[in-house]
Order: sequence, then structure tokens, then C-alpha cells
Amino acid sequence: MTSVETKSRVAGKPETGQPVLIIDDVVKTFGDAEEAVTAVDHVSFNVKQGEFVAVIGPSGCGKSTLFNIIGGLLGEYDGNVLIDDERISGPHPSVGMVFQEESTFPWRSVIDNVAFPLELRGVAKSERYDRARHFIGLVGLDGFEKRFPSQLSGGMKQRVSIARTLVSNPRILLMDEPFAALDEQTRLLLGDKITQIQQELKQTTLLITHNLTEAVQLSDRIVVMTYRPGKVKRIADINLPRPRTSDVVGSDAFGHYVAEIWNDLREEASRGMQESEQVARADRRHG
Ligand code: ADP
Ligand code: MG
Repeated sequence: MTSVETKSRVAGKPETGQPVLIIDDVVKTFGDAEEAVTAVDHVSFNVKQGEFVAVIGPSGCGKSTLFNIIGGLLGEYDGNVLIDDERISGPHPSVGMVFQEESTFPWRSVIDNVAFPLELRGVAKSERYDRARHFIGLVGLDGFEKRFPSQLSGGMKQRVSIARTLVSNPRILLMDEPFAALDEQTRLLLGDKITQIQQELKQTTLLITHNLTEAVQLSDRIVVMTYRPGKVKRIADINLPRPRTSDVVGSDAFGHYVAEIWNDLREEASRGMQESEQVARADRRHG
């Protein structure tokens, strides 16, 4: 992060290419003294207006911790997460979050799920239904307005969650492994949906994922994290053409990016694996 980048932002809605989300030297440690675990270690990067950035790293590298800090769910941390020069220490109206766990309300229909944030804000029923329908269409769920979550597949439920977050028109969409529970084919096709939405809304997005294909398929840039403590290992530009579809997965360029990032990631993932095997062995000796 250079101070020029920080200072060059203007008031109001930034132009494309201006950083809207700045993560500056963020450190988060859990527990104290000997028990302390540093989950996020001096992490810095930014997300520009309209940009799609993925944070990728092996399980346990601090991705969800970072997600929770940016989303304002973990108020105590060192360093700065800045939106419009404002330091994040609680939920911010500019940030819309989509969680890994299925989070639709089972007792509400699709349209009442999606319209829920507007209902909270007291938006009149006809207006909130109009807006909800727009986003239901955008995620490709036209015709499912009156269904209940129990009547939908996992991928459809996640699309309901995404529509429910987008309905509030967040400047920054923040997602933590939203497709982790889905099979690979569904994930690729849902990726197409996400790319279309990105195309239409120019939505500034930060996606947390451990999935390499997904990260390369969707992103303009990928932040590769190290295994615990989670540091930034590398930030890779993904110069695949847009508009993009999942067809890109078969291209040589795609393969090169995957190989290149896997090269960085493999080291970290094996470190993670070794550590958990050591823990398992120690448990067996003590157990
Ligand atoms: P990821 O999402 O990349 O799998 P997390 O951010 O969930 O990683 O976790 C990173 C590290 O921080 C892990 O070692 C985890 O056990 C630890 N951790 C996360 N949340 C807490 C917490 N609330 N209290 C203590 N340790 C935590
Ligand atoms: Mg996580």
C-alpha cells in the first residue's frame, strides 16, 4: 500500500480503478501468551472499484478471520481496514456479506427471503417485491419466487443468499467460500452466473475461497495467502479476457494461471497438511 493510493481517493463514489477497500497491515491474534495463534499476519492489499479479487489459501490460513474483520464482525484487530477513510470496527452499510453456511430463512419464500433486508428498512411491499424480483432474475431464479428453501438445491439456495445481499445495493460484496458445499459442475455454472452479475452490476467483489479453479475463473486479481500465520504470499493479475464464461477453463491461458498459482499454493497446503498430521499423531499418543 502506498500513501499515494490512499490519498488519491476522492469523496463520493470512486471511479473505476480507485481503491474502495483498503486492507493495510492487518494483524489478528487469538488467545494470549503461549496459547496465542496469529491468524492474520501483516496483510495488506486493496480492492478497486468494480474489481473482482479472490483471496485464496489452504484451510486454516486465516481467510475467514479476514472476512470477519472486513465485515465488521471482529472489531478488535491491529492495522486498518478502510472504506472511504473510515476504519472498520463494526458492520458497515457499504459491505454486503455472503456466508459459507446456508443462511436462507426456511420459513420464508424466495421472494420474502430476498426482500428481507428491504423489509427491515421499512420499504413498502410493492417496491421491495419489485427490487427483489429484479435480483431474483439476475441470479437466474425467475419463476421460483414462491418456492421455499427446502424445495431448492444447494446452488439455488446460495443464489437466494447472494440475491438477498445484492438487494441492499452494497458497494462491496464480500463472500466467504459461498460455493464450498457444491459439486464442481454446479460451481462452474454458478461461476458463470457470478460473472454475468459482475458484468451487469460492475460489483466490487472480494471472494474468499480455497478453490483454485473458481479463483482463476472469476477474478481480476488473486491474493495468495501462506498457511498459518496467514501472510500475503503473492498477488497475481489474471489477465483473462472479459466477458468470460466457464469455457475459459479449457484454455491454455487458464491452465497456465492455475499451474502458476498452484505452485505457490502447493507449498502452503502441504505445510498445512503436515501440521494437522502432527497434531493427529500427538493426539493419538496422548489419547
Ligand atoms: P480459514 O478460514 O482460512 O480456514 P480461519 O480464519 O477460520 O481460517 O482460522 C485461522 C486460524 O485462526 C485457525 O488456526 C483457527 O483455529 C484460528 N481461529 C479462528 N477463529 C478463532 C477464534 N475465534 N478463537 C481462536 N482461534 C481462532
Ligand atoms: Mg474459512
